[in-house]
Amino acid sequence: MGKKIYIVAMGGTIAGRAGDSAATTGYQAGAVGVDDLLAAVPGLPSVARVTGEQLAAIDSKDITAADQLRLVKRVRELLLSNEVDGVVITHGTDTLEESAYLLDLVHFVDKPVVLTGAMRPATALSADGPLNILDAVRVAAADDARDRGVMVVLNNEIHSARQVTKLSSMAVETFQSPNGGAIGVVNDGQVVFFHCPDCHHLPNALGASEILTRQDELPYVPILYGHGDDDGRLVKAVAETGAKAIVYAGMGNGSIPERVEKELAAAVTNGIIVVRSSSSPAGMVTKAEESYEQAGFIASGMLNPRKARLLLQLMLVCGKTAADVRKFLA
Ligand code: ASP
Repeated sequence: MGKKIYIVAMGGTIAGRAGDSAATTGYQAGAVGVDDLLAAVPGLPSVARVTGEQLAAIDSKDITAADQLRLVKRVRELLLSNEVDGVVITHGTDTLEESAYLLDLVHFVDKPVVLTGAMRPATALSADGPLNILDAVRVAAADDARDRGVMVVLNNEIHSARQVTKLSSMAVETFQSPNGGAIGVVNDGQVVFFHCPDCHHLPNALGASEILTRQDELPYVPILYGHGDDDGRLVKAVAETGAKAIVYAGMGNGSIPERVEKELAAAVTNGIIVVRSSSSPAGMVTKAEESYEQAGFIASGMLNPRKARLLLQLMLVCGKTAADVRKFLA
């Protein structure tokens, strides 16, 4: 019989079409439909019973909160269905880690959800998409993949949604988990897990899964990227937009230049939640300076700025406070 795996196609390079098979840029992302995408994967029917739909056909750099919520709602419906044992999402790589983490935060069942993408368009020489799809379906259909939340599968590696990030702008091995490493591999068609994604990560930890079904937008939470000579004027500008939270992608251990710190502290006084994350792709952000604690800034721990932003958006939607954010991240 085989497992019933449902494919949700979102577009991206994996569905990209270029005029020239040697071209890996200048193509149209999301141009190849889900049926053609699956037809290009030999052997798929022997791995699982695969059906699918085209939910979007976008370059994922253009994804909006409305698209993200549409994806979250559709995946929830699919996971609730007895007709689905696992879900595979084909997605552009630019924001794949964001959709993966968002889905992971609301994941509520033991069925696997796997995101995959490609760095080379479907029409390219040595396109990486077909094998990535085959591996993603293999993982979604594996008994051992249950209870592991949302995963990302590319280049024969399995990563947890919480840890994974797009590290290279070019390489097919772009998805890496700089802190914990891959949680498994797909070797010669065999799915092997080394360890669980995050043993302390509760399913649907924020209780947001149901709440998001009634949501068509997410609160505005900007990321400010720290750099030398940052003077904090963007913090002031953001405060005027009415944002309820800010992520500051600081340097190293979430370090903030003094002039910016002053503006962020004023933002906290005015009721804005400030999370310190880092532009460094590995390591974590801890409490660090005493003054950060006194100002009420919250350390993002292992979360990179884009994931910290999504967490804040969901926490705001759920009516959580700065104290709740602090507790969750601790
Ligand atoms: N810009 C593309 C996208 O994110 C890149 C890719 O898929 O690799 O849709």
